[in-house]
Amino acid sequence: MTPTSFEALPLAAPLHRVLRELDYTVPSPIQAQAIPFLLEGRDLIGCAQTGTGKTASFALPILNALHERPQRLSPKSARTLVLTPTRELAVQVAKSFTTYGKHIRFRQTMIYGGVGQNPQVNAMRGGVDVLVACPGRLLDLIEQGFVDLSGVEFFVLDEVDRMLDMGFLRDVQRIVAMLPKKRQSLFFSATLAPNIVQLAHSILQDPAQVTIQPEVTTAERIEQKVCFVTKDSKRPLLEQLLAEQSRAESARLTIVFSRTKHGANKLAKSLSAAGFQADAIHGNKSQAQREKALERFRKGLTPVLVATDVAARGVDVKDVGLVVNFDLPNEPEAYVHRIGRTGRAGADGLSVSFCSDEEFDYLRDIEKTIRMSVPVWEGHDHHHAGFAERYAKGGRGAPPKRVQQGRGGNRGRGGNGGGAPGGAGGQGRRGRRPSRSGR
Ligand code: AMP
Repeated sequence: MTPTSFEALPLAAPLHRVLRELDYTVPSPIQAQAIPFLLEGRDLIGCAQTGTGKTASFALPILNALHERPQRLSPKSARTLVLTPTRELAVQVAKSFTTYGKHIRFRQTMIYGGVGQNPQVNAMRGGVDVLVACPGRLLDLIEQGFVDLSGVEFFVLDEVDRMLDMGFLRDVQRIVAMLPKKRQSLFFSATLAPNIVQLAHSILQDPAQVTIQPEVTTAERIEQKVCFVTKDSKRPLLEQLLAEQSRAESARLTIVFSRTKHGANKLAKSLSAAGFQADAIHGNKSQAQREKALERFRKGLTPVLVATDVAARGVDVKDVGLVVNFDLPNEPEAYVHRIGRTGRAGADGLSVSFCSDEEFDYLRDIEKTIRMSVPVWEGHDHHHAGFAERYAKGGRGAPPKRVQQGRGGNRGRGGNGGGAPGGAGGQGRRGRRPSRSGR
């Protein structure tokens, strides 16, 4: 049976303590399924994307073992080796170990290219409990005799699909060949193509397998639209959409996605000033604040929630009728996650994405990932025919700059154009203060 609370997992007290401090109460599906196997010492294939909580699913059991079986470290050795395809991911994983291992004594370091090797060599001198590394530089330091992998007890291969896309197969195989036979191995990939499964079976022994269904399956019930607009038109267009949404027969909740925390805050404030009941959730807010905002959203007290991708993970609210991508995400997977916030529990949903000329490349990546082109919605006041045409002709648009949002305050909303795409709208514009969705 999969545990529904962290309390039910036999983790050491310092880990329960940090989970309480982080306000993590419910394990995510990958955590609930993977952690029990890992605590038993099983090898594991985890099919899950970033954002599912997979880092904690391997960091917690490993930290648990390091805590319960402390050992004197041998020079240049690592008890745990986590291989990641990129430096960014290495930093993220190491940060997670630091966070979850806050009350545990352990030594950790990172090895990646693009920076001088001396600090990394020095950090490895006395050995570490956890080494997070990218394959190229790791092999380099091994060859120079600065790292010894013969004492690895826990081996984690993270984002294997990306690792292979980046051409690291040979490097990974060379590293695996240096590991002791007796070890616990964990293998994570967002997809399990045949070549990946083959690699998994060459590394793992009798692995348990845990698959977290990608949310793309829910996309079938979701109507998707893209609006080509200038950056400055995004806010008036959003207000138009929200006004129509709140007038609809069965008004439902709306999540608006912003790429930055700052943008989310600003947008929520300006929407509130324009008479919409809106709140923002993002990573700078505490878990308690986020929970409170979510509760108010669920109840319909604030029917508009402006969120960043990280904050919206785990948001499972049944009545979300509209998802607006105020900014397109630069990771196509995030788009799938975002639109998956609507159309839940069998309900239909609508996703509207705003695309300025700086976001053409993001839209193209998204369309490649979802293997369809998102229909263009022209029936609103802010349609930019020039952008739409340039995009359709394969144009690249303006180079993406840092996203700047929210200039211009509450400027006029323009006249009433077409109604909401696929929806009821278009019955004329009302005053500046649309009524709260009726709940
Ligand atoms: P990951 O998929 O490991 O990158 O984690 C995604 C995000 O979810 C991170 O910001 C974690 O801090 C957060 N997170 C992971 N597990 C939980 C949980 N059980 N409850 C709440 N947040 C979590």
